[in-house]
Amino acid sequence: MLQTIRCIYITINMKNIVIFGPPGSGKGTQSNHIINKYQLTHVSTGDVIRSEIKAKSEIGQQVESLIENGQLVPDQLIVELLAEWLEKQNDSNGIIFDGFPRTTNQAVALKQMLQKQGQDVDLMLSLEVPKEELVSRLVKRGQDSGRSDDNLATIEKRITVYEEVTAPVIDFYKKENTYVSINGVGSEKEIFATICSHIDTL
Ligand code: AMP
Repeated sequence: MLQTIRCIYITINMKNIVIFGPPGSGKGTQSNHIINKYQLTHVSTGDVIRSEIKAKSEIGQQVESLIENGQLVPDQLIVELLAEWLEKQNDSNGIIFDGFPRTTNQAVALKQMLQKQGQDVDLMLSLEVPKEELVSRLVKRGQDSGRSDDNLATIEKRITVYEEVTAPVIDFYKKENTYVSINGVGSEKEIFATICSHIDTL
C-alpha cells in the first residue's frame, strides 16, 4: 500500500522536459543548470552515442562516420538506445531529454515510451539562436572540445540537418501544447531565469 502511494506520488511529481534547439544553442549548458536546481535526471543522446563510439561497441562503429559527417543516427537505433536507458531509470524527479527527439518519429516514439509508464513530456523548451551566432559558438567550442564534429564543414551540415529534419519537431509539441520558445541569446543567467519561470508553472 505504502509502495503504491509512493509510486503515485513519484509519477504525479515527475517533470519530463525536452530541451530542444539547434547545435550550439546551449542545450547542454542549460541542462546542467536545470539538473542542479530541479534534481532531474539528464540524458544526452549525443553523449550516449559518443560513449558507444569510445567503447568501440558494434553500434558505436556503425554510427561513427555518420556523426563525423554531421548526419543523424537512424531513428530505430537511437530509439532503441534511449529505450534501453529509460528502462534502467527509477525513482527520478523526472528526466531532461537533451538532443532527443530530433525527428518527428522520435517524438512519437518518446511519447509512446513514456506513456507505458503513465507519463508524458510536460514541457518542451526550444532555444532560439540565429545561425551566425550558432556557427561562431561552435567554432569556438571546437577549439577545446576535441569533438570530431565541431569543425566548420560539419557545423554547417549539422545546422542544415537541424533546419530540414529536426525543426519540424516543433509542430509536434505545438499540437501537444507543451512547446515554449526561449530566446537563447543573452547571458546564461538570464536564459536560465526564463527557463525556470516556465518549469515553475509545472
Ligand atoms: P549532440 O551531442 O546532441 O550535438 O549530438 C551529436 C551527434 O550525435 C548528432 O550530430 C547526431 O549525429 C547524433 N545524435 C545525437 N542525438 C541524436 C538523435 N536524437 N537522433 C539522431 N542522431 C543523434
